[in-house]
Amino acid sequence: MAGRKYPLEILSQKIKLAYARLSKCDLCPRECRVNRLKGERGYCGMDAGLYISSFGPHFGEEPELVGKGGSGTIFLTGCNLKCIFCQNYEISHFMIGKRYSVEELVDIMLYLQDRGCVNINFVTPTHYTPHIMKAIFLARERGLEIPVVYNCGGYEKVETLKLLDGFIDIYMPDAKFMEPDLSGRYLDACDYPQVMREAIKEMYIQVRDMVIENGIARKGLLIRHLIMPEGIENARKILEFIAREISIHTYVNIMDQYHPCYRAADFPEINRRVSSQEYRQVIKIAHALGFLIR
Ligand code: SF4
Repeated sequence: MAGRKYPLEILSQKIKLAYARLSKCDLCPRECRVNRLKGERGYCGMDAGLYISSFGPHFGEEPELVGKGGSGTIFLTGCNLKCIFCQNYEISHFMIGKRYSVEELVDIMLYLQDRGCVNINFVTPTHYTPHIMKAIFLARERGLEIPVVYNCGGYEKVETLKLLDGFIDIYMPDAKFMEPDLSGRYLDACDYPQVMREAIKEMYIQVRDMVIENGIARKGLLIRHLIMPEGIENARKILEFIAREISIHTYVNIMDQYHPCYRAADFPEINRRVSSQEYRQVIKIAHALGFLIR
């Protein structure tokens, strides 16, 4: 279980280092260098406060993350990626949410555990790294036993991930695009493919392949790929990357639920759902590479 990998003094030091980064924020690859402690906001749109849109047991995640009690999902406000097709755009782009203290977040985590949730699932956590680290530290001291999931878009700095080492049990990044043209067009991040690859390698170093006990995910890496319209080649490149550079035993969730949201209508090529034929084609590629797709 995370939190026991390093002595408490080291974890405390890591939390301090993470908070210090807020004064010239470079927590994520955007490197806005704004002083969030003085109320300035960068690309993610957030100052140094902690803002939560909603929280509660969630049953729509992978079965191993849900169990009987659900995944204790905490939707955080703002985003460092802001995809133009975002399905949670009210939270990420319009920044719907309410301010909470870290101590209140700890109460929420313990409440979710008491309700029977099988994990704490931080959705879009990157720009709140310091708050999350501190909350996990305090919650463990107060009896949090269930795993903590870092559910992110894959646009993470290795340096920041190294601070998170010892706090996170399950990394659940998206792997969205392998082509800079596509990530520039839809995510405003031409460097996404390179950044995502390095980030996932670091996550794998920290937590390795997924460990599932009695049907429940305890620790490890879970990569999600949302197939895009006309996205078969992109999916192939992502799966080849995972097979060759991470592990053929990686828990990969290939998702077909893309539907045009937010500004997707401005991009005709992605203004439709993914066909069942496209989905089947990607699954075939995954099987040919040797993945066990659940
Ligand atoms: S976390 Fe926000 S302010 Fe900091 S570098 Fe990333 S986008 Fe910019």
